[in-house]
Amino acid sequence: MGLIVQKFGGTSVGSIERIEAVAERVCRTQADGHQVAVVLSAMGGETDRLLDLAHQIQPDPAPRELDMLLATGEQVSIALLCMALRRRGRQARSYTGAQAGIRTDAAHNRARIQTIDPAALRADLQAGRIAVVAGFQGADAASNITTLGRGGSDTSAVALAAALEADECQIYTDVDGVYTTDPRVCESAARLEQITFEEMLEMASQGARVLQIRAVEFAGKYRVPLRVLSSFTEGPGTLISLEKPNMEKPIVSGVAFNRDEAKISILQVPEKPGVAARILGAVAEANIEVDVIIQNTAHGASNDLSFTVHRNDVPRTLTALESIKAEVGFAAIEADDKIAKVSLVGVGMRSHAGVASKMFGTLAEEGINIQMISTSEIKIAVIIDERYLELAVRSIHSAFGLDAQGIDNAVQEQENERI
Ligand code: ADP
Ligand code: ASP
Ligand code: MG
Repeated sequence: MGLIVQKFGGTSVGSIERIEAVAERVCRTQADGHQVAVVLSAMGGETDRLLDLAHQIQPDPAPRELDMLLATGEQVSIALLCMALRRRGRQARSYTGAQAGIRTDAAHNRARIQTIDPAALRADLQAGRIAVVAGFQGADAASNITTLGRGGSDTSAVALAAALEADECQIYTDVDGVYTTDPRVCESAARLEQITFEEMLEMASQGARVLQIRAVEFAGKYRVPLRVLSSFTEGPGTLISLEKPNMEKPIVSGVAFNRDEAKISILQVPEKPGVAARILGAVAEANIEVDVIIQNTAHGASNDLSFTVHRNDVPRTLTALESIKAEVGFAAIEADDKIAKVSLVGVGMRSHAGVASKMFGTLAEEGINIQMISTSEIKIAVIIDERYLELAVRSIHSAFGLDAQGIDNAVQEQENERI
């Protein structure tokens, strides 16, 4: 007998039939003797539809009103699931984020959870009722409805699991676990039995949208046992754990990618101290996050500085840079949004030297030019032309022995290389 939080994503609640199937699964879990709290996303495509409605009125709607609108999507699915559960003779109650005690800061559209008071949910669970909570939303101290950023229902689920001290948080989605890379891009991607929080965090931050980054952060911080599973098929899914057993520590675990960034290049920046700080300071003041940064070697008295930002932030970045152009004295600004980032992730690369050269060599063999490079202890990321993204992902995946048929051998192959 345990307490389980089950989260179902948009595709999993995308139609009445699917909501009925979710109800069946929740009933089975309860019949197995568990207390069950459920967190739902909006029906698939609904959040995009609501966003589109807003943008038909205004390109830049007031964040508070946008949250009021977007939060409605999840309310539809929780009410429908409760009806489906009650038709099956179960006691179930739906809760908005605020009703579930989820208090956030006031940063509309990207709010962060501050506290959760799970008393109401706990009372339900102890009385044998199923609590069904709207993901992606909460309320700030002034009771304004807030949302947690796209994909935020994952974070709602993990945070509730932490607050309820659940035995496991299960994320049900349209793939049967975390794969070595997105199975929609690489057919030979293999499901991972386990992945560490650290690797999952790096995969998510490099673009693997199977889990929202903050959900992984939360799960790691509060040690919530987290599992990604399919809502359509049975299976063990992928366990996100603190450490992998030593035997199975491959050098690389996966390849992530991201098409959301754009490259900004600033040409002929005067070569003197403080200039990079001034340029990136202006970008930071505009509240724009910068990812990869590269500064070319000086040719005489100037050099070029390039960095990447989210594609949506390009117009604001250009405005911020134009405002300091005369003061800093650079020659020109260029923006290129036809780029993609491909990242290789693995805790094992900490202790292994040849990973970067093998990755770069693989890209060279395919004739793919590397525009920028960024590394961390457990990641190597490259910026390339967007046209070569799929080719790059597949060839790196294969070069590191991650292809499905070879996955059992991958550990051994990589071990052999080490020797
Ligand atoms: P949900 O609506 O259930 O939250 P998402 O679309 O947010 O689902 O996340 C699931 C999707 O994540 C999959 O359909 C898959 O295409 C994508 N994905 C990207 N990288 C990976 C990966 N490494 N493993 C599994 N799925 C991945
Ligand atoms: N419905 C929200 C979205 O589409 C939140 C979520 O599904 O996790 O981003
Ligand atoms: Mg998601």
